[in-house]
Amino acid sequence: MNKNTATYQTTCSYCGVGCGIEIEKDPKGKLKLKGEETYPVNRGMLCSKGRTLNYVVEEQQDRLLYPQMRWSRNHELQRVDWDTAIKRGAAVFRSLIDRFGPDSVGMYVSGQCLTEEYYIANKLTKGFWGTNNIDTNSRLCMSSAVAGYAKTVGEDTVPIAYEDIELADTFFITGANPAWCHPILFRRIEQHKENNPDVKLIVADPRKTQTAALADIYLPLRPGTDTALHHALGRILIEEGYLDVDFIEKHVQGYEAYRDQVMQYTLEQYATTCDLDPMLIVKAARMMGESEGFLTMWTMGLNQSAQGTDKNLSLLALNLITGQIGKPGAGPFSLTGQPNAMGGREVGGMASLLAAHRDLMNPDHRQEVADFWGVPEISPNPGYTATQMFEALDRGDMKAIWIVCTNPMVSLPDTALVERALKKARFVIVQDISGRSDTVAFADLVLPAAGWLEKEGTMTNSERRISYLPKVVDAPGEALPDLEILLRFAKQMGYHGFDYQNAEEVFLEYTRLTKGTNIDIEGLTYAILQEKRSVQWPFNKVTQEGTTRLFTDHQFYTADGKAKLHVGANKGHSDMLTEDYPLVLTTGRIRDQWHTMTRTGKVNRLSKHIDKPFLEIHPEDAARRGIKEGSIVVIRNDRGEVQVNATLSDKIRKGVVFLPMHWGKILSSAFARTNNLTSRNIDPVSKEPDFKYSAVEVTLY
Ligand code: SF4
Repeated sequence: MNKNTATYQTTCSYCGVGCGIEIEKDPKGKLKLKGEETYPVNRGMLCSKGRTLNYVVEEQQDRLLYPQMRWSRNHELQRVDWDTAIKRGAAVFRSLIDRFGPDSVGMYVSGQCLTEEYYIANKLTKGFWGTNNIDTNSRLCMSSAVAGYAKTVGEDTVPIAYEDIELADTFFITGANPAWCHPILFRRIEQHKENNPDVKLIVADPRKTQTAALADIYLPLRPGTDTALHHALGRILIEEGYLDVDFIEKHVQGYEAYRDQVMQYTLEQYATTCDLDPMLIVKAARMMGESEGFLTMWTMGLNQSAQGTDKNLSLLALNLITGQIGKPGAGPFSLTGQPNAMGGREVGGMASLLAAHRDLMNPDHRQEVADFWGVPEISPNPGYTATQMFEALDRGDMKAIWIVCTNPMVSLPDTALVERALKKARFVIVQDISGRSDTVAFADLVLPAAGWLEKEGTMTNSERRISYLPKVVDAPGEALPDLEILLRFAKQMGYHGFDYQNAEEVFLEYTRLTKGTNIDIEGLTYAILQEKRSVQWPFNKVTQEGTTRLFTDHQFYTADGKAKLHVGANKGHSDMLTEDYPLVLTTGRIRDQWHTMTRTGKVNRLSKHIDKPFLEIHPEDAARRGIKEGSIVVIRNDRGEVQVNATLSDKIRKGVVFLPMHWGKILSSAFARTNNLTSRNIDPVSKEPDFKYSAVEVTLY
């Protein structure tokens, strides 16, 4: 290594696994990257996406380099300086708030944002604009898990640590394909299973994914029947005496109602609902019941559902009735999608939250935060969530939106509505790093942001691990860190309380707001994070240690300290299958692409795995429609259509078809956008959209 080569440790900016990366920067600025050998998350490993992150930083052709603005929708965007851009944006938001009230504007942010950016975006909207209209694309990702945890253990809390993977003897992975979507964690499961042949894996999924290929028991359930499967498993665990009676008596509320609920139906009835062999369910339940350490792992397959909260509650129940929580190798483990979805929720980054897990609906919590920020009050009005914001723009109830680091024209359900909403909005700000975002075309003001390695801040991964990300290179052109843009905007609007010297001052302010809460990180500094590399919250400022595992004392974050079993939350409606639309469309990710491909799409080697959008369909469903391998097909419903090539596979259930969610108009065509077809049905509690269940028909082109 050249003696002038500098070395940095940072965290991968793609998924919630949060792998450690070591960067070498040579004197010419060239970057070399590898997995950080000593980082406890990945132990030197990186997946295909993480291994190519340096190309994303170095390849800059797509980058937004300077602010752009247009005076009306009849004009093209034109380059302007930062001063002009910030003055115009601030003036428009000020005049809309004055004229139509604070709820006429909103901000839509991202699980990619750093914690400090999230915190300031919340402070600006909830504290100073006076509206709770700030939501994040984490709404599309983890909000059903958040609702499940909050109702069960009292707060949005992932109790386990990744080291529990090597301590567990049984895994139940449902509604997730970590082999592709959380590869490093799955690699740890694979290695653990290789080293310990008695370790068991149960996988439930309508598609026999690469994760399912490793399963000892594979449950190819009918889409949407997850709660029935969880109840069936609960029933067998009760009937066959696998309960931890002592744990339930001392630490769980609501067991009798839960038992009565799951006993309402016979095993055969559950099996018919799920279209599963009843004996497979029995075998899976026995495997769980006999386990010493049992981890449940799930993600979008359960969360992205109009019944997502119910699915989470019924799954969490399995850990509670068996006492498999708060001990090594056991517990519920929601696999977070985005790298800082958890950090964002911690600072209150959703329409329904306040910082440090405070509840927006609690007047005392609102006043605490208002006093801390030095503002008279936080509005008691619930804010619009992600899909609701675009519906409000469409109705004219919201007039302007500021979109930060996310691409709703590709990622939100029902693209036709999103497009209509953006066209009807009086003012749209898009703040992003890339011009490859389909949403940029709808902006009145484009603000170029710095990306990964071009700014500093912190993130929290899905085991509550907070890490510090240093600035390594300068941002191209005039791009600025998102935090700097937010602060300039707030100051231009004349608000006090936004005079920070650097990102750490923002972080330290947030840590003070956590004092005395369950996620207390008071006393944590950038210096401590740089020295320790990472800390799992809560952090003890006296010992300067984090917390590996929660609930080891079996005291949950509820008023009486007991966890709660729930039956039958409010269920939302999914599409009905009809003669015209008889197939269930489910959507998801592929191994080597990330979200709407604004970064991974520019790395050639990542396209070698799968280079274009496709429809996966069972050979019998295809034959009935005259579809062959590679045929161009039209997938259609009343909301829109998608045209792609068909891939025939007997690994997907009959009656179900799959589309990857990545491609948009810029990277393919308007007819490749999967969300042309998905519905705005949402879970009534979590408000998470129903991406995994849309009724469609497929025909030859
Ligand atoms: Fe990055 Fe996730 Fe891959 Fe780790 S598993 S390298 S965090 S994308």
